[in-house]
Amino acid sequence: MSDALLKVRQLGAAYRSTAVLGGVDIDVRRGGITALLGANGAGKTTLLRSISNVLVKTSGSIELDGKPIRGLATDTIAAMGVGHVPDGRGTFTQLTVEENLLVGAITRRGKADVRADIEAMYALFPKLAEYRAKPAGLLSGGEQQMVAIARALMLKPRLLMLDEPSFGLAPKIVRQIFEVLSRINREQGLSILLVEQNAHLALELAQDAYVLEMGRITLNGSSASLKADERVRAAYLGI
Ligand code: ATP
Repeated sequence: MSDALLKVRQLGAAYRSTAVLGGVDIDVRRGGITALLGANGAGKTTLLRSISNVLVKTSGSIELDGKPIRGLATDTIAAMGVGHVPDGRGTFTQLTVEENLLVGAITRRGKADVRADIEAMYALFPKLAEYRAKPAGLLSGGEQQMVAIARALMLKPRLLMLDEPSFGLAPKIVRQIFEVLSRINREQGLSILLVEQNAHLALELAQDAYVLEMGRITLNGSSASLKADERVRAAYLGI
């Protein structure tokens, strides 16, 4: 893909001696949304951790906008424009909503306009404006997911990676969150790499998709082509 913002080639990843990924190739199109589907334990979280260089040993190549990033320090990768919303969200529960958003701006290169960006987050997620002075730990799961996404957006990323943002949330909240993701992709051209168990949702939102099985990519293509694929329909869409 010539217009790829993120280009992963022959990625291997391991925890100590346990190999999890072997020879993974994926691209995330500039301005596009790419979904990564796969069963529990396939290695989806490990793939995102490999890109951010969190906890995992990697081999192969990872390029962001043509620059090699594999193995750089996690905060350097973040400062280069990779926002990561980890599984389990990782909000600072003792900090207020607003403090969480301020933390999100710490690693970013330009510090101007932080205040305006916080207000922009409140416009995207009006509930957060209401709870700005509340400790994030007191919010509902869905609201905490919004805090985690807003915090990652405060970095002004070029690529936003989300690990199972719908996990454990009520359908109504999930719909709200996915609408916001679709909006920032459309209006700001933010590129997104979405790991999601809910394949229906993921293939609705994304234009491109990959299926990861036991550490390898077994299928990839447009979301439309994957939705029509018998194997995807049987294994992931329950059709
Ligand atoms: P899930 O949806 O269940 O999170 P996943 O596709 O994201 O699945 P990973 O979390 O990447 O899968 O896990 C892939 C494999 O790596 C699993 O076999 C898991 O047990 C193993 N694994 C994950 N984290 C570690 C770790 N810190 N140390 C050792 N093995 C790990």
